[in-house]
Order: sequence, then structure tokens, then C-alpha cells
Amino acid sequence: MTTNSQENKLIDKFGRRVDYVRLSVTDRCDFRCVYCMTEGMTFLPRDQVLSLEELFQVAQAFTELGVKKIRLTGGEPMVRTDVMSLIEQMGTLPGLEELLLTTNGAQLEKYATRLKAAGVNRINVSVDSLDAERFKRISRVGKLESVLEGIEAAREAGFDRIRLNAVIMRGYNDDEVLNLTNYAVEREIDIAFIEEMPLGITSHHDREETTCSNDWVRDVIEQKYELDSTISRTAGPSKYFQIAGKASRIGFISPVSHNFCEDCNRVRVTVEGRLLLCLGNEHSIDLRAILRDSFAGQTELKQAIIDSMELKPERHYFYDKEHPQPVRMMNMTGG
Ligand code: SAM
Ligand code: SF4
Repeated sequence: MTTNSQENKLIDKFGRRVDYVRLSVTDRCDFRCVYCMTEGMTFLPRDQVLSLEELFQVAQAFTELGVKKIRLTGGEPMVRTDVMSLIEQMGTLPGLEELLLTTNGAQLEKYATRLKAAGVNRINVSVDSLDAERFKRISRVGKLESVLEGIEAAREAGFDRIRLNAVIMRGYNDDEVLNLTNYAVEREIDIAFIEEMPLGITSHHDREETTCSNDWVRDVIEQKYELDSTISRTAGPSKYFQIAGKASRIGFISPVSHNFCEDCNRVRVTVEGRLLLCLGNEHSIDLRAILRDSFAGQTELKQAIIDSMELKPERHYFYDKEHPQPVRMMNMTGG
């Protein structure tokens, strides 16, 4: 990745500058986490999914418009056939300063070194429990051992930062907040706690009963660790604290209990090529139609992205009964 002086052309009507894209490379996954998917999930037919070439064209268009940070997500990015070739190609994009990956970690043991060599700077690995039985209850099919081996492989590969992601659910893993934090602290990696979001319709559990607020999670952590608020940092819906005297940072991603929409700097692209302007709203444009239009090229693609900024809503309304809730599942959204 090389830097360039590309001016950012993506400013919405509320004056927010978009410089961060979360790009979903597949809706498929080898896990079926209860908060993310249904058990008998059906996935998109291949022709509806952007090809690796189309995904690259989208990434290129965004970087040419001044985007500096792209996170690859899904579904599980590492289950997409030949995803490494896309990642290696993206690693060469001029202007892209940060290439990031969110993964369930199950395949990191195999790919960590190649990902680092391809230019991936940072990795987030989701792990909601350190107990194998519970881990299976939450992920339905995942094996904890493979994820922990993946985390070790990522540490050995030497990424700038590794961050664990944990969704805390009452009755599932709410007694593991400190265990998970200790695990991160011992390994000198970061950990973020994500509030469960009401995305998609899942009859598996009642989210209003399982959702734990991050204020509660923070209280639990502060029983053992001092969080240094002088070096806290805010990015979108996340707030980070340094753990006093330790190398690890703690993030609280609180889209439900705290609304940080006024600082929102991001958009998402689903694997069908839908450019979503907000996680909690349906405002979107269809990039796939442009990518597959033989009369359109990169210029039209970029213009459509610039024009879409007009559609970015001011905020989301999670759990607000006055407003419709999103029907997308998280794997479709690009978490
Ligand atoms: N498969 C990868 C993984 O699990 O990290 C990447 C995709 S996953 C959709 C991205 C993140 O979204 C994960 O950390 C996951 O825990 C989180 N997630 C999924 N569904 C969620 C929900 N309903 N509320 C909050 N976070 C969710
Ligand atoms: Fe798969 Fe990630 Fe969703 Fe779990 S959270 S089902 S690992 S996409």
C-alpha cells in the first residue's frame, strides 16, 4: 500500500466525511452464531454475489475517492474461495492506509502469515466464550480450540494490533466478561465488547432479554482493572480505554445504548453490491447494477458513490418502536 494525496470526495449532507468502508466478501460462514444467523440459513446464489474482480473494482473506486481504511468482513471472509488473491491485490491499492479483517479465527492458523504478508494491518477475531461447550452453544457449530489456535497464529505473525470481539448475552456468557478480559490482558492484545444489535428476525431468543448494556460490562471490568479515561479514544460507536499498567486496550462498541451517529465516518457494501449508508437503516444504492452495466465503468461507479452521500441518514433508531427495524441479518450486512 502506498499513500497518495487523494482528496476525500465523500462528504454527506450533515458534513460527515466518509473514509472507512466495510466490505462484505461473502454471506457464507462455517459458524451459525445465534445472534447473527438462523440455524437453517440459506445463502445467496452465486450470480447475485459480487465476483472477486467486482469486489476489487469497488475497493479501488472507494480508495480513488479518498477512502483510507477498508475492513473485509462477511459472513466469514476466509471461507470465500480464493479470497487470498483479492486480499493480496487490495494490499497494493494506492491510498489505502489500513487494510483490516474481521474473522471468526477458525482458519487463521492456516492463513495468518499470508494475510500479514499481503498487507493486512490489523485483525479482529470474534470469540464470545472460553468454554468449549458454551462456545458451541453460541456458535452452534464452531470449535473453540481452532479459534484459540488461530489467535496464537495471528500473534506469531506479528499484526500491528489484534483485537478480540465479544458479544455479551445475558444467560449465555455474561459471567465471562472478566475471563475474556484476562485472556486478552495476558496476551497483550485488545478486546472489544459489542452490544447485541437487533438485526434481522431471529426467533432463537428474545434480544431485549439477552442484550447486556456496555455500561454494565464496564462496571464488571472495573471491579478488577482500572480503565485510564485520560487516554480514551472514540471512533464511531466505539470507545476505547487503555487498561492502566497493561498493554491491552478495551473497546466498548455500544450502538444500542449510546448513539455516536454524529461522528459516523463509515459505509458498508454487502456482498450483493448494495452500498448501505447506515447499519440501522435501509438507505442504499445498487453498485452491482453499475458494475454489470456494459455501458458503465469506474467513472460511473465513482459518481454513484459520490451521489449516495446525499442518502446517508442522520442516525439509527435501534429498539425504537416508533421506527421500523432493519430486517437484514448481520452476515448480510457486513458486520
Ligand atoms: N465472521 C466474522 C466474525 O464473526 O468476526 C466477521 C463477520 S461478523 C458478522 C462481524 C462481527 O459482528 C462479529 O464480531 C460478530 O460478533 C458481530 N455480530 C454479528 N451479529 C451481531 C448482532 N446481532 N449484534 C452485534 N454484533 C453482531
Ligand atoms: Fe459467522 Fe461471524 Fe456471523 Fe458468527 S458472527 S455466524 S462467525 S458471520
